[in-house]
Amino acid sequence: MKHNFGAGPCILPQEVFEEAARAVVNFNDTGLSILEISHRSKEFEAVMAETERLVRELLAVPHGHSILFLQGGASTQFAMVPMNLLPPGGKAAYLDTGTWASKAIKEAKKIGDVSVVASSSDANYTYIPKGYEVPGDAAYFHYTSNNTIFGTEVFETPQSPVPVVSDMSSDILSRRINVADFGLIYAGAQKNMGPAGVTLVIVKDELLGKTGRTLPAIFDYQPHIAAGSMYNTPPVFSIYVSMLNLRWLKAKGGVDVIEQENIIKARTLYDEIDRNPLFRGTAAPEDRSRMNVTFVTENKEHEAPFLELAKERGLVGLKGHRSVGGFRASIYNALSITGVNALVDAMQEFEEQNK
Ligand code: PLP
Repeated sequence: MKHNFGAGPCILPQEVFEEAARAVVNFNDTGLSILEISHRSKEFEAVMAETERLVRELLAVPHGHSILFLQGGASTQFAMVPMNLLPPGGKAAYLDTGTWASKAIKEAKKIGDVSVVASSSDANYTYIPKGYEVPGDAAYFHYTSNNTIFGTEVFETPQSPVPVVSDMSSDILSRRINVADFGLIYAGAQKNMGPAGVTLVIVKDELLGKTGRTLPAIFDYQPHIAAGSMYNTPPVFSIYVSMLNLRWLKAKGGVDVIEQENIIKARTLYDEIDRNPLFRGTAAPEDRSRMNVTFVTENKEHEAPFLELAKERGLVGLKGHRSVGGFRASIYNALSITGVNALVDAMQEFEEQNK
């Protein structure tokens, strides 16, 4: 039995993988693969409709916000957001909390003016800046809710006088959010929703079509909304597997239930990191992510042997990102408390071995 602590792409429950595998051969007894059925067929239209319905229900998406399933990953949204929301001559406000936030800023600067309201780059993004002000004349305010690489998370929606845009790629569906507080939310599916290849966008309709800019249709949210995410061929398999995973989440009790599990999982792991003298967390305790737990060994020479021990115990994907080093335990929705307990056991065993 393996426990996958990898940061992506696509950490889903075993039963979802199994059902997806069956559908690759014979989708819903059609005698056809999910990969070959027409995206215009009534069978696939039903998949698209159910996926949208599940997102709307699980995240309590209000009327007036459209739900889209697009291609191009969250990285495409770094550009599409300013293309659609930042009028020529206007400016957008961004919070810089890590690699992905910086990339979003870099792309927005190609479209218009950007004001970075605060950054934690001075401390290798180990904390979330506080006490900044969002300018009232910005078109929108963008922040990354969970910093996948650095292991920090923003739990409270920032105060902003202008519409809030959030990259929720690595914590969407892990905890309750109030969608009405957001002008736009986007998330590459590949952590808590489904396989890479589909990107969820939830956008408040009234914000669109106001920049006066003519966009290529593929980069314009409105044609995608008008076509029900079928402006062009949708990523059928990624959407189908997302639907299966959303069904799994609903059957578990939904976002509130998974949030409680995620709180327990994160607390269990951080408690051990804080207790065990061989390990140290890298993120500021008040900003610690519940999804990506970053930590290092006090003694650099312990790093490789601990990874080896973890591997022997079936714990994979723990190597930290190169910009932080050490370890990163990604504990997304599908990673069970059993997996977290197995990691804690390995850390305690390692402590015993190195007394
Ligand atoms: N934003 C965040 C928070 C991420 O974690 C990632 C990828 O891990 C991205 C953006 C980039 O997503 P994509 O690879 O879908 O473009």
